Amino acid sequence: MCNIGSKIRDYCGVFGIVSKDFSYSVAGLIYSGLMALQHRGQLYSGISISSCEGPIDTYKGKGLVSKVLSPKTLRNFIGNVGIGHVCYGTPYCSNEENAQPYLYKSNKIEFSIALNGRITNPTEIQIKLEKMGRVLTGISDIELLASLIAAFYDLTNQIFDALKDMMKVVRGAYCIVVLTKKGDIFAIRDSIGYKPLCFGSLEREDKHFYVFASESCALDVIGAKVIDDVKPGEIVYVNPTESLKREQIIPHLKHGICSYEYIYFARPDSVIDGISVGKVRYNLGINLAIGDDVPSENAIVVPVPDSGRSAAMGYSWKSKITYAEGLMKNRYLWQLKKDFNEKLNPIKAITYDKDIVLVDDSIVSGVTMKKIIKMLRNAGSKLIHVRISCPPLIKNCDLNDSLSNRDIFIALEAKIKNFDNFNEEMRKYIGADSLKYQSMNGLIDAIGKSEDTICSICLKEICDLDEEIIRNKIEIV
Ligand code: SF4
Repeated sequence: MCNIGSKIRDYCGVFGIVSKDFSYSVAGLIYSGLMALQHRGQLYSGISISSCEGPIDTYKGKGLVSKVLSPKTLRNFIGNVGIGHVCYGTPYCSNEENAQPYLYKSNKIEFSIALNGRITNPTEIQIKLEKMGRVLTGISDIELLASLIAAFYDLTNQIFDALKDMMKVVRGAYCIVVLTKKGDIFAIRDSIGYKPLCFGSLEREDKHFYVFASESCALDVIGAKVIDDVKPGEIVYVNPTESLKREQIIPHLKHGICSYEYIYFARPDSVIDGISVGKVRYNLGINLAIGDDVPSENAIVVPVPDSGRSAAMGYSWKSKITYAEGLMKNRYLWQLKKDFNEKLNPIKAITYDKDIVLVDDSIVSGVTMKKIIKMLRNAGSKLIHVRISCPPLIKNCDLNDSLSNRDIFIALEAKIKNFDNFNEEMRKYIGADSLKYQSMNGLIDAIGKSEDTICSICLKEICDLDEEIIRNKIEIV
């Protein structure tokens, strides 16, 4: 979806790296990894680093990675093991105190933790912590997780056991990296595997590193090779003196990765669970074009930049309608609260007098799409056919903040009002000449995984919650 107006936002990216060479500082590599994950969060950026001897040094602040972790700042962070985080600013990450990595220090343990995800049973965790005699200083997801790990650690003095116990209590969608004072890094993925997390190795100048990241693009940029995804319910861990180990803690349950990672959240050059995100988006465009009947004589396929690009290319290839970049986005203004016309502009020499097949990945509020269509019409385009590469969003999702606000969902509203003809109501609302969404089968086929290994609950008309989902207390409105 166009990231100019209303949009779905994922909110975090995590990164971790271990160098076997104690004299090598990994701060620069964390910086590069976080830069590659910047699309997953632009509100806060942070780093924790350790030399396995002294304390864990943590620095975080509001802004992009390049602003918060400037070369001058990074010079003060020296260590061969570290983690990093970028954040979009969830309700629980809305101020600098809750920005991550989150450093936990007690007289027994010191560790730093970074999270991508959302916990769905915070009350249960709070009650458990209170029963264990813990006094909570805050109730953000990250504080709860850190307190829970520390409480379990107090029982056994074993961090690995504490993390295992934490996994057995926490419900929701989460990928976590934990850095200990001793220089261990643990990478953990929830038992359903909603969020992506991978790991790999890097050989550079006779030095060996292990790397963890939300997306494989962060490994690519530093030259690391992907070894595997952290499997749902698994802990992968390493430290500078030992080889990498992995252990399945909780069996992998049904319903896997969030479809939206493939549709929108992740970078197209990332590979998640062995599947190329860019290829999925291209396939979505192909599937959207199959059986479509837009007359091709005067038409061009125009993507909504940047989110509709890969699907538009697939659509163009299948339909044989010419692909053209007919909308120019101002990349330097897209984060700012600016007038819509300052952010997006039609290239009239391309779009004038043409029928436009306008491709985007989804419609959330419909407001942005409405403005784009009006803009194209004012610039002289003729018919406008909107093609959306994913099925309509019709349910809230408690695992993604941006999908948990009922008010923004025009599709959801339409369902609630029981519109007989949802597609027609939506077409009229946005002012298109025709509107077509991806089918569920088209989505599943494009991802190329079996239906029971992806989550698409927010896109499904009939919510077939199974026992495991209920056990995880995912509340679908
Ligand atoms: S309900 Fe939708 S947004 Fe939420 S995890 Fe599932 S596919 Fe992703």
